[in-house]
Amino acid sequence: MMNTTHAAMGVTLAAPLVAVAPELAPIAALAGFAGGVFPDFDMVVGEHRRTLHFPVYYSLAAVVAGAAVFVAPIPTSTGVAATFFLLSAALHSITDAAGGGLELRPWEPSDERGVYLHPAKRWVAPRRWIRWDGAPEDLLLAVVLSVPGLLLFDQRIRTLTVLGLGVSVVYTAFRKRLPEWDVPILR
Ligand SMILES: [Zn+2]
Repeated sequence: MMNTTHAAMGVTLAAPLVAVAPELAPIAALAGFAGGVFPDFDMVVGEHRRTLHFPVYYSLAAVVAGAAVFVAPIPTSTGVAATFFLLSAALHSITDAAGGGLELRPWEPSDERGVYLHPAKRWVAPRRWIRWDGAPEDLLLAVVLSVPGLLLFDQRIRTLTVLGLGVSVVYTAFRKRLPEWDVPILR
């Protein structure tokens, strides 16, 4: 799944806040966007889908942060931002296993590393429901998940969402050329 799909997913996570706590919705959406992008920095520092991808630990940390927000007398924007960042990073890590493996050309499946499961010290196999990052179904998912970012939030989030969509379209168009060009692949 593309990094931009994960980012749009993070913004979508914050959509319910528009109804229940509108003053906290923008910070939650920005944190969700950042949390969706963040895990893929392990492309540059460490081992991809292992060093900064934590399906279990981000989820646990999100539950703790969310519980702290709930028990606090007034929900702080820092607490809400931390919760949505962690939720989005958790969802990114989990949903990477729904895509392809770490092969250079995931449309020719040959790799069985979906995401690393640290507590079990093993890799989860890729399910390939989204066959590869930048596949047509990945772009479709990115478009659908961008709807809340385009319609529900303020200008900052709308701009980020439009940028994300632009990157998604270009990435999808050129995805199969990237192995030849030796471009870093975020997914
Ligand atoms: Zn990833």
